[in-house]
Amino acid sequence: MLKFSVAATALLRGVAAGATTSPCDALKAAGLGERLILPGDAGYISEVNSWWAKNGRQNADCFVLPHTREEVATALTALTSGPIAGGNSSIAVRSGGHNAAGFSSTANGVTIDLSPLNATSYNAETNIASIGPGGKWQYVYKELFKHGITVTGGRDGDVGVGGFLLGGGNSYYSGRQGWGCDSVINFEVVLANGTIINANRTVNADLWQALKGGGNNFGIVTRFDMEAVQAPLIFTDTRFLSKNYSYAMVDAVVGFADSDESLADDAFFTFFSHDTDTSPEIFSAAVHVNTQGITNNPTPFDEARSLPALQNFTLVEDIATAAAQSQVAPGAWSYGMTLTFSNDKQIANYVVTRHEEFVESLKKLMAPEDFFTQMFLQPLPSYRWSIGKQRGGNVLGLDDLTNNALLYTAGVGMFSDDAPRDEAYALLMEMEDEVVAFAKSVQGDMEFIYMNYADAGQNPLGTYGASNIEFMKDVAAKYDPTGVFQTLIPGGFKIQNVQ
Ligand SMILES: Cc1cc2nc3c(=O)[nH]c(=O)nc-3n(C[C@H](O)[C@H](O)[C@H](O)COP(=O)(O)OP(=O)(O)OC[C@H]3O[C@@H](n4cnc5c(N)ncnc54)[C@H](O)[C@@H]3O)c2cc1C
Repeated sequence: MLKFSVAATALLRGVAAGATTSPCDALKAAGLGERLILPGDAGYISEVNSWWAKNGRQNADCFVLPHTREEVATALTALTSGPIAGGNSSIAVRSGGHNAAGFSSTANGVTIDLSPLNATSYNAETNIASIGPGGKWQYVYKELFKHGITVTGGRDGDVGVGGFLLGGGNSYYSGRQGWGCDSVINFEVVLANGTIINANRTVNADLWQALKGGGNNFGIVTRFDMEAVQAPLIFTDTRFLSKNYSYAMVDAVVGFADSDESLADDAFFTFFSHDTDTSPEIFSAAVHVNTQGITNNPTPFDEARSLPALQNFTLVEDIATAAAQSQVAPGAWSYGMTLTFSNDKQIANYVVTRHEEFVESLKKLMAPEDFFTQMFLQPLPSYRWSIGKQRGGNVLGLDDLTNNALLYTAGVGMFSDDAPRDEAYALLMEMEDEVVAFAKSVQGDMEFIYMNYADAGQNPLGTYGASNIEFMKDVAAKYDPTGVFQTLIPGGFKIQNVQ
């Protein structure tokens, strides 16, 4: 069991005897004055607005942008062990800033922004790519492509390395390589006490495994060393169709989830959206990728290819270009949630219909052009479950599954600050409840909640299985005995909160 010290919280909150220094002053005193962005500084507003979702754009007392792992360690120890008086302050840790729930920012304390730690390099002798947490996937790929290689990273080019890999990482390469975290062969980590360690198969192996899916519960990762794979040009086929063809998209995604390893190099997902910028009506869409650049590999998507598309882009391009062109616009208030089901067409059809009802309900709250929705179905064929274990193990708790599955995500975005956000969020939660109930009614609910897509009210770590939960608690207590990552860094899913 974790026994987190009240003293750690007291220190940051300035309750320590005689504390008078603010957290930002403590950082200055530690020699990090040059790395601070303070309210009133020229770059302060653009720093706040550099988070993808409006929900994440929070006015910290100051931002600290370390340039080295040593500066990360200095920042962390200055914030957690000095005589500081910041009131009810907290610390946030940010890499790419794509988390929509506000987990990587704080309005009341200090945000450690790892953006400058964005170097990417490749060692051809070891076939290891070393990647800074502050990198964004499109730039990581661009650098690695110079060497003809890539890694199991994100599909949206603006997503950050740090959060993606610590939460798992669903990639075009996942059919062959597993979750992104399964390709991490070493993490360089700054612990709460400022110690810098490595975690890999032979050194701190428990931490290595816990970081593969366990989120920000253990330390700040300052470098990910990943096994590289060859990067031939990839084939991408992106289609937007009328919602009349939604059920053809369901057939394709269910077919992909039922496929065997012969399609391990083919990635596919389908989504359904209301977005008046793209189409006056709800549309369905599909993205098919062959990571080896094969343009005519037979897949369950072939039948749908003959349907009339509103738009269709078929390209053979490098992964960096594909990622750069695949970005969801920033700046909206964004709310999303995720679930995982057995690969059951009844459930897939149900969520398509339920999404259409969701859109109709939102239209009663605001004008159609004031919001957009996205509902994704992504195949998880069963041959993926064993990859994590084969590569040293992660904590996602999927190793013993045997069935094919669908990963479901649904969300709503609104650009106006005056949008009825609470009401829209309530409708999203209502939909979540009803989808869970339907999936349960047909024995298809798999309970697994994928951290990277989860709403703050969901409990992904709690779905990773009793032994993984116990393991993560033990690892957190071992490497962070005073509980800094549980109490002083509250953003994210905290293992101490899991029963
Ligand atoms: C448009 C869009 C597309 C996406 N596409 C995909 C996809 O294809 N596949 C997929 O799996 N996910 C995808 N996601 C989800 C994405 O992986 C998560 O939002 C992820 O957390 C983003 O990482 P980040 O570094 O940008 O996030 P941040 O907001 O910077 O951080 C997220 C969390 O990780 C913690 N954290 C970040 N870096 C570190 C670090 N170095 N050490 C310790 N803790 C850290 C933060 O404290 C925070 O709790 C997408 C999200 C969006 C919005």
